[in-house]
Amino acid sequence: MAGRFEGKQALVLGVANKRSIAWAIARRLADEGAQVAFTYQGERIEKNVRDLAETVSSPLVTECDVRSDDDVARVFSEVAEAFGGGLDVLVHSVAFAAAEDLEGRFTDTPRDRFWLAVDISAYSLVACARAAEPLMEARGGGSIVTMTYLGGERAVPHYNVMGVAKATLDASVRYLAWDLGSKNIRVNAISAGPVRTLAARSIAGFTTMEELFEQRAPLHRQIDAEDCAAAGAYLLSEDARNVSGTTLYVDAGYHAMGM
Ligand code: NAD
Repeated sequence: MAGRFEGKQALVLGVANKRSIAWAIARRLADEGAQVAFTYQGERIEKNVRDLAETVSSPLVTECDVRSDDDVARVFSEVAEAFGGGLDVLVHSVAFAAAEDLEGRFTDTPRDRFWLAVDISAYSLVACARAAEPLMEARGGGSIVTMTYLGGERAVPHYNVMGVAKATLDASVRYLAWDLGSKNIRVNAISAGPVRTLAARSIAGFTTMEELFEQRAPLHRQIDAEDCAAAGAYLLSEDARNVSGTTLYVDAGYHAMGM
């Protein structure tokens, strides 16, 4: 059977290293036939991303700080050039909050760091979706997936301002789905349980989160990046052609519980 992404062109934002959820999704897309372009943020992780991208014969690896409108515009013009003016798939797997805001009280979050978290973790999806729109339209449609977490719907101690950013992200998914649906562009989110990545390590008490998760989740086990990759591949493929504006929970059932 031919891969679900044969002939498809994808852009993946958010690979930092081999543990990144974005990398698991990218590898799955490439395994199933997609050509995958990558962005990285900052020189510090450039080599990691270039080395990983090479293993899937990526046609484009370029820098993008999603806080910069200029970066976003340049990246999508480079993507248009590399892919002959089209794009089928966009993976947005980017988030940031200052470490000090992921340990104390949410109440104490200062204004500038509140907006920083929302800018990088939520507005960036809007900016990227807008830039992707003409490229996806040129292909007759497309599919966008972002990564979210239950801390945007419920108060999770220590998740703090990142929870507020995820709530903004979740609402953005729904509004983008409405706007872009008429162009056959779908927008969905994956809500993942805890996965040990670089970003996760900055959350105070992450180990306690994992322990509680395993006790309370109906399936009593941890999830991993491969689970997110399987869900991402589904949402990004034609199998999900009538799925948009939704959140798919990849959390061993944890979200269904009341305690
Ligand atoms: P990760 O650290 O591997 O990925 C986070 C990425 O965000 C990095 O590649 C980093 O470079 C990028 N980033 C941060 N600031 C940026 C900026 N200004 N411009 C461009 N890129 C920037 O960690 P991850 O866990 O794979 O995180 C990916 C996504 O998954 C995030 O949205 C995260 O909130 C979400 N998520 C993670 C978990 C988990 O437990 N790991 C659970 C649910 C959701």
